[in-house]
Amino acid sequence: MSNAIEKVDCLIIGSGPAGYTAAIYAARAALKPLMYTGMQPGGQLTITTEVENYPGYPKGIQGPEMMEDFKAQAERFGTDIRFGYASKVDFTGPVHKVWIDETTEVHANTVIIATGASAKWLGLHSEERLNGFGVSACAVCDGFFFKGQDVAIVGAGDTAAEEATYLAKLCKKVYMIVRRGEMRASKAMQQRVLNTTNIEVLFDSETKEILGEKSVEAALIYNNKTKQERKLDVTGFFVAIGHQPNTAIFKDWLDMDESGYIKTIPGTSKTKIKGVFAVGDAQDKVYRQAVTAAGSGCMGALDAERYLAEVGIH
Ligand code: NDP
Repeated sequence: MSNAIEKVDCLIIGSGPAGYTAAIYAARAALKPLMYTGMQPGGQLTITTEVENYPGYPKGIQGPEMMEDFKAQAERFGTDIRFGYASKVDFTGPVHKVWIDETTEVHANTVIIATGASAKWLGLHSEERLNGFGVSACAVCDGFFFKGQDVAIVGAGDTAAEEATYLAKLCKKVYMIVRRGEMRASKAMQQRVLNTTNIEVLFDSETKEILGEKSVEAALIYNNKTKQERKLDVTGFFVAIGHQPNTAIFKDWLDMDESGYIKTIPGTSKTKIKGVFAVGDAQDKVYRQAVTAAGSGCMGALDAERYLAEVGIH
């Protein structure tokens, strides 16, 4: 199949808050950005419900609606937004090659990687069915909706420990479901969990099912040691078993940490390849908020603009 080749100054891969913010800044700087959205236009926010912590929306907003606003703002300044999936890259030369859906070849002077990360899920049918109706992968985003209620959280890493203590401040009771006899989280985080009186840690436990018709009403937990089943009466069920950054196609080209998060020069969005920038969750495993992703998207566009000026292209 012959490839159509397209030449641009600024290619943005991914369409979450980081990608759209990069697009708004790049378009206003007259870089004529081309954006490929990826398979899930709008990113992780399109699978959440109410967003109450993004500044500028005092009454809150639905995640998908917020991403429509981001998109409209990026389009207003002329971003060329297209549905498509980046499947391969070649960062050998000063011009960066990116293949979209294996049919289009883009030659870009700068590339802003905003491919995000995906939450890992347990894989239960009930988890999928009740996603957004009591099931969530983000305690900071959704914990508030369970104020004064009983909730459960699965996981035993630093994120789960941090989110369990966060939830404990809002909720009446937090059950932390840990699949082994110990936690993976740092000792300090473990101590914080164990010293919080309204967190009950259930070791050696796995989730059998999340129950509820329209929203979460309970969770069925099985203890692998005692072989006992227990029903937890919870209205919120949080999954914190890690995230997977969507960075596989860049692994031969960019430095990454052991989990696949792209390494950038601290305080910038620059990767080790000149003209290639990484923003949002693809390079951030600590904060992972829409607002921090948007902030880093802005950095990506400003870094790209400065790079193009430095090399005399713009
Ligand atoms: P991790 O990969 O560190 O931990 C994932 C946890 O989920 C593990 O305890 C794992 O269990 C458990 N798990 C995985 N799959 C399942 C499953 N199917 N069922 C039940 N449990 C499961 O991910 P985190 O998001 O916690 O952290 C990612 C990285 O970010 C880490 O390096 C962490 O240190 C860092 N981080 C640092 C923070 C900080 O410094 N403040 C805050 C948040 C994260 P098991 O242990 O049995 O494998």
